[in-house]
Amino acid sequence: MNKAVFPGSFDPITLGHVDIINRALPLFDELQIAIGVNVDKKYMFDIDTRMQMIKDVFKDEPKIKVVHYTGLTVDFCYQNDLSFILRGLRNPADFEFEKAIAQTNRKLGQIETLFLLTGPETSYISSSIVRDIYRNGGDVSELVPKEILKFL
Ligand code: ADP
Repeated sequence: MNKAVFPGSFDPITLGHVDIINRALPLFDELQIAIGVNVDKKYMFDIDTRMQMIKDVFKDEPKIKVVHYTGLTVDFCYQNDLSFILRGLRNPADFEFEKAIAQTNRKLGQIETLFLLTGPETSYISSSIVRDIYRNGGDVSELVPKEILKFL
């Protein structure tokens, strides 16, 4: 079985993430959306809320599993028999950052990382922009899936 993981913070999930996930789905038999928990990082939404948001968005998609993990992504891949890491690329800064991580993960665990280029309609969207707008009382409904509006 061809299994992949899309790791991230998803704080919160945005239409950019959804675009990457929907376009990647035909490539895999199972796609685990895995929230990486970093104890040193401060999140706006707690882990249970972020997981529930993603579950609600993909409730009708049987290929998707929503999980969380701590530690190295490659270890998580080994433990769960996942062959590929999926990541999205928005700009050259993403590329430079992702390049080093992907090469390291390949060295550490012989895991391949697959990149999908952001769609033009969602390329400007990031969770941090959504958090900024939300924190300041603005309207984020054009940037996030409608299923998560009830959590905001
Ligand atoms: P992380 O903290 O691991 O970067 P994010 O939730 O911010 O977690 O992002 C997870 C993945 O989703 C990353 O590969 C990121 O590049 C990708 N991503 C986020 N927003 C977009 C977008 N608008 N278009 C394409 N990919 C995106």
